[in-house]
Amino acid sequence: MEYVAELGISREDFEAVADRFTQRTFRCRGYHHLRQRTNVFPTGTAIVDGAVVRGFPSIPRTLQLAEGVHKHFDGRFVAEEKLNGYNVRVVRLPDGEILGFTRSGVVCPFTTSVVRRDLSLDDFFDANPETMLCGEMVGPENPYTTCAYPEVDSIGFFAFDVRDRATGAPFPVDARNQCCDRFDIPQVPSFGRFDPDDVSDLRTVIADLDAEGREGVVMKSSDGERLLKYTTSAANQGNLSYGFQYPFDYGKEYVFPRVLREAFMAVEQDDDEKTRGEREHAVGEAILGPFIEAIRAVEAGEVLAETHVVRGDPIVLDELLEHLRNLGLTVTIESDRTRDGERLLAFSKQYRSSTDSILAYLDGQPFGE
Ligand code: ATP
Ligand code: MG
Repeated sequence: MEYVAELGISREDFEAVADRFTQRTFRCRGYHHLRQRTNVFPTGTAIVDGAVVRGFPSIPRTLQLAEGVHKHFDGRFVAEEKLNGYNVRVVRLPDGEILGFTRSGVVCPFTTSVVRRDLSLDDFFDANPETMLCGEMVGPENPYTTCAYPEVDSIGFFAFDVRDRATGAPFPVDARNQCCDRFDIPQVPSFGRFDPDDVSDLRTVIADLDAEGREGVVMKSSDGERLLKYTTSAANQGNLSYGFQYPFDYGKEYVFPRVLREAFMAVEQDDDEKTRGEREHAVGEAILGPFIEAIRAVEAGEVLAETHVVRGDPIVLDELLEHLRNLGLTVTIESDRTRDGERLLAFSKQYRSSTDSILAYLDGQPFGE
């Protein structure tokens, strides 16, 4: 890998991180990406033809809404909906090709095709050539994170940031809103501005999101620099019941933070006895329910797997399958039909580690060996 000036680091520092990058190709174009963060670059930083695509930053999470925003923001801040899908960065390379990157800095052929189809990207990048458009791809027909949203039929992109492609410096929130509006790029819903010393209105917003089973909020300083996230109980519990469908793939590091969120929420919201009882019950059910079902399924001879449905151009969906297999996933086609040039494909991703562990324990293998 050759020295890349656009990274903004010295040759020596570059040498120290160069071997952490993984090489891949997208339609004959080679590129490098960082699957894990280093102390110099965030996860997902990619280099394509000497152009740097900076990784999306990790957003800190508060467990206490009132204290969290009070400490984190020194003036009014914006709260936006946190949509539950997958993170996408869209860029236009100097030669004009538009690419869609997923979180770890991999170019996804499906995502690239959806954003090219749905968004006026040439106009956007003519006006903002050095930027990357960051957003969440959500909806039921989703190859990575399936989550139903009443406003999305298949899959849709919602912008939450415009950043400098190479440095990752964000646009201020108002500037990003204006520039996305100008090119009709859909954005995540915004709930407006809030005072860090009075979160009562924000609590109402979060309670409404929770009642609708939605994920939470991302709060942002007006300059776009400081970010903080907070999730609903519905999301925390939904995460638990999702993860415990594949208990040995998601594992111990997955469960603790999610139980922690519920415990701190119960205290901040000062649960009365009834609410607390309901929460305890719900968390227990979210963990044990899917876990028991997973064991039963394996006992009945099934391989644990997650089904995704995707719709689109037949060739792009072939590329997607190849892409997922190249990433090391075991993918099985469940149904496949093409009508009027549009293909509807259902495929499943196998969870081998959970299936094999459950099989072994069912077979009497001692735990902890
Ligand atoms: P990390 O902790 O590294 O950020 P994660 O997978 O745990 O990764 P999440 O808990 O999903 O991340 O929260 C951060 C992600 O939320 C962002 O990377 C982005 O994809 C997504 N997101 C959804 N809505 C928004 C929004 N309005 N503003 C910013 N990010 C958003
Ligand atoms: Mg997410």
